[in-house]
Amino acid sequence: MTRRDAVTEPVETAEVPVPQGPLPVVAVVGRPNVGKSTLVNRILGRREAVVEDVPGVTRDRVAYEAVWNGRAFTLLDTGGWDPEGEGMAARITAQAEVAVTAADVVVFVVDATVGATDTDEGVVRVLRRSGKPVILAANKVDGPSAEADAAALWNLGLGEPHAVSALHGRGSGDLLDAVLNAVPDAPAESFDEVDEVRRVALVGKPNVGKSSLLNKLAGEDRVVVDSVAGTTVDPVDELLVLGDREWRFIDTAGIRRRVREASGAEYFASLRTAAALERAEVAVVLIDASEPLAEQDLRIISMAEESGRAVVLAYNKWDLVDEERRESLDREIDRQLVQVRWAPRVNVSALTGWHVDRLVRAMDTALEGWSTRVSTGKLNSFLGELVAAHPHPVRGGKQPKILFATQADIKPPRFVLFTSGFLESSYRRFIERRLREEFGFAGTPIELSMKIRE
Ligand code: GDP
Ligand code: GDP
Repeated sequence: MTRRDAVTEPVETAEVPVPQGPLPVVAVVGRPNVGKSTLVNRILGRREAVVEDVPGVTRDRVAYEAVWNGRAFTLLDTGGWDPEGEGMAARITAQAEVAVTAADVVVFVVDATVGATDTDEGVVRVLRRSGKPVILAANKVDGPSAEADAAALWNLGLGEPHAVSALHGRGSGDLLDAVLNAVPDAPAESFDEVDEVRRVALVGKPNVGKSSLLNKLAGEDRVVVDSVAGTTVDPVDELLVLGDREWRFIDTAGIRRRVREASGAEYFASLRTAAALERAEVAVVLIDASEPLAEQDLRIISMAEESGRAVVLAYNKWDLVDEERRESLDREIDRQLVQVRWAPRVNVSALTGWHVDRLVRAMDTALEGWSTRVSTGKLNSFLGELVAAHPHPVRGGKQPKILFATQADIKPPRFVLFTSGFLESSYRRFIERRLREEFGFAGTPIELSMKIRE
């Protein structure tokens, strides 16, 4: 075999590349059954680093972190969805539109053994309009005899078809090389560029009150600046002045336009959520306080957490909450929201506008935690004292030590610990907890990685 096969490195190894700034987003799009999910699994090497056992949370995620040739990127999978029956082509096109909005590079997968269909042509038009770089993957080229099928896809006008077999791995290394070569040097929407306008994603399950909240925020005494004409790809956001700054609310068009497909609606909503999170700095997760926490709520909270954005939890419909519900809610929060204990919680009513101002303050607080940088000096003296008082347990006669630590990045804060051995996850959690107590970090996930010196 002359081509290199891709198996990306698992993310949580001793040698974690430290990502700089927001990761480039690579979206995999195409018709059902062309092999998108197979390709995504191939790229991830099926070795997902972080699989937490949260009961009731199915892990059918949309966004994954992947690494190829030492470069980290976010992989957006649009394959977990089965648009049967009527309107299929239209929905595939709509799905491609959402994916493209979030992506820096699009991998368009076509089944080479079938050739380009009318639906494929429809997707091509969407991709062209977006102006984003597109890499054409001619899949199911399992052997040399199918190379001609791949070559036939030149007529899609998307440049060279990259022949791959997602199933066997053939050609996937070359494909990933091409994908990463196509990543623009500077992310299209660098956070720093638009520093004064903060970007917020309003997410939550259907009927939780997203559009009501948006209307409340946009209405009355607050100033609606403009709907954002923006670039070619996102004429969908709204700019609002709240508190003392400007906020860009991501994909308000999507929030207001209700998508109610019979099948696949929930998956489609997930994709929209993932896309909005990719473009946001802070996620406001709306939860219906009047109802028990649903699986879909937990899934959305996990997506927000894993996206690496600042997170605020807003308990909406507080006007419907009585004493009894309030008590069960406290228990629910203790039991089910351990993973995001750091996120500020605000009780609001989108209907009456109650406490909406507090929500805006919480968004500010979360963004502050998200951007906090601790100097290397402070960090090491703090950790030195902490580790002296609470050393890592001895394992197999050895005691791993933290030799040196540095904060490699902000947005979200990422710490790298140089250690003399593997630190157990419970010990890493302990360190994270203490870092939060000492330095703040309200409303932001924190990443801790290790580099082990042998
Ligand atoms: P998706 O709907 O686009 O996500 O497609 P899937 O990844 O679920 O794949 C659809 C079917 O095509 C499955 O039966 C796969 O095993 C098969 N398939 C995917 N990639 C390849 C490939 O490279 N070669 C062959 N022969 N089959 C493939
Ligand atoms: P979305 O699907 O998340 O955009 O939810 P909507 O904003 O359309 O709200 C769904 C329903 O919940 C509507 O009937 C709203 O009037 C209602 N609703 C939204 N916020 C509140 C609230 O704070 N209190 C009450 N009682 N109802 C609310």
